[in-house]
Amino acid sequence: MPLTVAVLLSVASCTGSGHAGAASSVTAAARATPSAAGTGSSGAASPDTGGVRLVPAPAMGPATTASLGDPLFAGLGNGGYDVQRYDLRLTYPKTDPRQTVRGSVTVTARATTALPRLDLDFSGGGPASVLVDGRAATFRHRGAELVVSPATPVPAGAAFTVDVRGFTAKPVAGSAVEQGGAAFVATPDGTALAGQPAAMHTVFPCNDHPSDKATFTFALDVPAGWTGVANGVPAGTTTSGGRTVWRYREDRPMATELVQVAVGNLQVVRRPDEQGVQIRDVVPRRLLSSAGAELAGQDGQIAWMAARVGPFPFPVYGRLAADAQLAALETQTLTIMPRSYLALPSGPRNQVLLHELAHQWFGDAVSPAQWSDVWLNEGHATWYEMLYGAEQGSLRSFFPAPDLEGAMRAVYGQSDLFRRQFGPPAAPASADSLRALFNPDVYTGGALVLYALRQEIGTPAFEQVVREWFGDHRDGVASTADYVALASQVAGRDLRPFLDAWLYGGTAPPMPGHPDWRPDASG
Ligand SMILES: [Zn+2]
Repeated sequence: MPLTVAVLLSVASCTGSGHAGAASSVTAAARATPSAAGTGSSGAASPDTGGVRLVPAPAMGPATTASLGDPLFAGLGNGGYDVQRYDLRLTYPKTDPRQTVRGSVTVTARATTALPRLDLDFSGGGPASVLVDGRAATFRHRGAELVVSPATPVPAGAAFTVDVRGFTAKPVAGSAVEQGGAAFVATPDGTALAGQPAAMHTVFPCNDHPSDKATFTFALDVPAGWTGVANGVPAGTTTSGGRTVWRYREDRPMATELVQVAVGNLQVVRRPDEQGVQIRDVVPRRLLSSAGAELAGQDGQIAWMAARVGPFPFPVYGRLAADAQLAALETQTLTIMPRSYLALPSGPRNQVLLHELAHQWFGDAVSPAQWSDVWLNEGHATWYEMLYGAEQGSLRSFFPAPDLEGAMRAVYGQSDLFRRQFGPPAAPASADSLRALFNPDVYTGGALVLYALRQEIGTPAFEQVVREWFGDHRDGVASTADYVALASQVAGRDLRPFLDAWLYGGTAPPMPGHPDWRPDASG
């Protein structure tokens, strides 16, 4: 792995932590945080878990008006309602990537309890007014919450709408953004969104937790000549008075963290359909000859994934090339690919593209019930990236071996180190920084869990688990406990002791079939 790639990828969130973690143990060890050390010693050892001590499985706390109780993000999300749809309208007054953008959103939701007041997550500017079911409501900001008091309480079980009008959001320069803290990114060509895991509410009012998915419509009002794109399929454009409104609809449920809205001097590049899926990339016109070409030639990746998991979950897919220092990110139906990733040699670039594509099944169509379940996103994406890289002969770009078994042995050799540093794969010790949550033990460690399961139950059963996982939870939300239950059902025996040791062990259990492997080979 070239050092330049290690350095590049070590700053990234979505794909980067996993890659860097597999090949730069010295760097990772130097960053070891005392807060995470010793997490493996707090639980009880059990003969069923091979003597491995477990940390407690993170559990969602009780939901309140201001929080869904995610132990990694105390104030994220809001209880009391379930969002069905967002109708988001954004107006970009000029062709200036740094300008303040004005917006309105209609949130259509169902009350799960009586609501004398309700919260939305929001830390942008404004709004000018809020209406609940068409009637003026009072509102105030409290931290990152917009607290709304309807004129009359919303009854339990009722469908209702909240119109938030005239809010504002200001992009942050793409070269300066600390990804994770801001979602609205200015580039030399326009703006894009990178809100994972918990920053989309800096752009628009929402229930900003992946467990509350909803459909979306978008209306992007931009100066004529600029292009607007968003998740999902086009729903028409209208131009008048020197302005164009670009409309899109995402009819499949989507987590707020996966929203993508990009506007600017962009070109929508249509490619041939794959597997019945419309393919369109979005490229800055300035970069059409470079990025446009680098995104071409990925034919076959959708078929490759579909053959292993099931049909591509959405009617449209593509990549958004962005000239910004960001991680590649699996925004639903339109993955954002920063220019630095596109400039990689074709082998590693295609691995990153495959990783992000795999997220459309794992992380997008199936969303984590809480953020400690993110190993289900990143572990699967890394797993398929590794299988693909081994098959294509490019695995050594990010891993110290050309084959899956050799790469997994290297990952296993760092397992205890990473568990001490970051917590076990399904119990990250912290989400205080992007690196803490999107850590190597979630990426390569998550893929290692899948490898261990395949070793334990055999390839046919493992592949059945994968297919049923996607089939059962597509367009929904699922947890680590759901995964363990499914694996047990498919295997015909209780796999909780086995998988709990892998998912929550403070140290790594023995690897089935490889008694000579050591989990602390490089620690
Ligand atoms: Zn990823």
